[in-house]
Amino acid sequence: MSVPCDELNVPPRVLLGPGPSEMHPRVLRSLATPLLGHLDPAFLDLMERVKELLRWAFQTQNRLTFPLSGTGTAGMEACLCNLLEPGERILVCVNGYFGNRIVDIAERCGAEVMRVDREWGKAIDPGSVAEALKTGPFKVVAIVHAETSTGVLQPLEEISHLTHESGALLLVDAVTSLGGVPVKVDEWSIDAVYSGSQKCLSAPPGMAPVSFSEAAVETIRQRKRKVQSFYLDMTLIDQYYGTTRAYHHTAPISMVYALYEGLRVAHEEGHDLRAARHRLNHLALAAGVEAMGLALHSEKEHRLWMLNTVTVPEGVDDVDLRKSLLQDYGIEVGGGLGDLKGKVLRVGLMGYGSNRRNVLLFLSALEALLSQRGCKINRGAAAAAATGVYTSSSV
Ligand SMILES: *Cc1c(COP(=O)(O)O)cnc(C)c1O
Repeated sequence: MSVPCDELNVPPRVLLGPGPSEMHPRVLRSLATPLLGHLDPAFLDLMERVKELLRWAFQTQNRLTFPLSGTGTAGMEACLCNLLEPGERILVCVNGYFGNRIVDIAERCGAEVMRVDREWGKAIDPGSVAEALKTGPFKVVAIVHAETSTGVLQPLEEISHLTHESGALLLVDAVTSLGGVPVKVDEWSIDAVYSGSQKCLSAPPGMAPVSFSEAAVETIRQRKRKVQSFYLDMTLIDQYYGTTRAYHHTAPISMVYALYEGLRVAHEEGHDLRAARHRLNHLALAAGVEAMGLALHSEKEHRLWMLNTVTVPEGVDDVDLRKSLLQDYGIEVGGGLGDLKGKVLRVGLMGYGSNRRNVLLFLSALEALLSQRGCKINRGAAAAAATGVYTSSSV
């Protein structure tokens, strides 16, 4: 029998979608490091350093902080299935695709779910959360910090205050925010938070950093029944990575190397410079897009710097446009999800991928493709506008 087994050969791509984003070259190199056994003291020592770097990244002192083996969704599922028991109540804020996913998983945990909905592209209003909390009590309030489906950054402080006043725990999705904008877990009193390795940390998909406050740890300790998932049971994983070093599963060693290097790169740059870089490249992209006569879909005061929802002009087929970006330029961007299907391109400028080269490359490719499709575009205006942002900036 003949088996198709040509040499692995992937086309070169510029990953400007909603994730995975381009790996940092140092992360790529780390993946060639020889394996260690998962209980080797050298590996356990590395895990301690990863935990320390994650505390830095999440800006927290939380002891229970580590990378779960799995993607961002595993982080989401772990937080929900550890904090919730069947019949308990959760309030989920939904203004995009990932809010809906939280609802789905919470329902699978047997929780009673109530939602606060907001139009996609807008931030959740604290007033509507306060209103919904009156129908409480709730065990958990869940919210997405950076909605990758809409390009909205959610302010958290006021909602955190309301949540704790009501006696609930605050659960935050920081999959796209961690490594892009500050995620201040302690200052904002977040009780449970999860992220992913492949967005602004510029590592491959496969690890989900999580962190739990003392209140969340106590909640888990007081559970009446076991967490239904063996694999995602925080108490068991904590014994593995923390206290007794007891075997639970085999840590994905190479992924831990990659995450470590991605975190080291972020740490060297520092929170402030990293955020400033994401902001600057976002502003340049926005200026270029607007100079082309297009718009960003998300409301201006809550725009996410790491994910830009660029409106597709009337009469242009978004699937065909993305196909040409990929085939002719090797550029991957995302399409709209749910309510935004066909209406926007989702352009990620995440971690290492947030740079001038990518902004100018994307703008000129988009300009050329839209011109080919008969859109009237002032050629060169986008690059000029973006360059103008860079020259007038001091970063
Ligand atoms: C990507 C993403 C997820 C899911 O992460 P996976 O790594 O795809 O499992 C969850 N929430 C948000 C906001 C995301 O952007």
